[in-house]
Amino acid sequence: MSKNLVVAIDGYSSCGKSTLAKALAKKLHFIYVDSGAMYRAVTLYFIRNNIKLDDEFAVENALKQIHLNFHSLDYQTHITLNDEEVSTEIRQMPVSENVSEVSALKSVRKEMVKQQQRMGKLKNIIMDGRDIGTTVFPYAEVKIFMIADPKIRAERRFKEAKSKEENISLEEIFDNIAHRDFLDTTRKESPLTRAKDAIVLDNTTLSEKQQLEFALERVKPFIFQND
Ligand code: C5P
Repeated sequence: MSKNLVVAIDGYSSCGKSTLAKALAKKLHFIYVDSGAMYRAVTLYFIRNNIKLDDEFAVENALKQIHLNFHSLDYQTHITLNDEEVSTEIRQMPVSENVSEVSALKSVRKEMVKQQQRMGKLKNIIMDGRDIGTTVFPYAEVKIFMIADPKIRAERRFKEAKSKEENISLEEIFDNIAHRDFLDTTRKESPLTRAKDAIVLDNTTLSEKQQLEFALERVKPFIFQND
């Protein structure tokens, strides 16, 4: 392969984007970047340091203090915030409840997109998020836009939470997903929307294997073409 290939996977919250992205990265030996983890880590920093979102100066200043790094172990995303492993904490409710407000800020997006574009220059990459095919990598070779029935999304997330012994109800999860969908699709700065050239994957009734096959079919032509 001569050129770096970029696969952009966007979609609503808890649609299974990261599950598919990880499986695809494992199969193709690509780098996987979970862009949501970056927004979550920034949110965690803002919560811990009591950064007021309407204080532009404080936000800009905080962004300068934040250093994020990914490292991958068995295709699980591990992210560090100023050298502290925060992969578990960023998935918990205090972060989930605030992340969409933080992600709506222009300065936050500008900094994250800059870092994400830098990562895309290095290697073949699969990145999932909300604006990857529209803003971060508008020229990505493959763009997938994932959707699924909201009730199914909440149930899947609930099952996952139970398996991790998280103390959260199905209703709380459903409400959080709806809240984030609303903010993510209506914000001014690069709202969640399907890129015109993104192919829709509705995984409401699909198995993980079927989703992987669907994605592989889209990526394969580019791999062979570049061989
Ligand atoms: O992907 P995940 O659900 O972990 O993302 C958490 C939140 O981060 C989203 O609800 C959204 O507000 C924000 N996000 C974003 N742009 C991305 C990835 C995530 O605004 N590319």
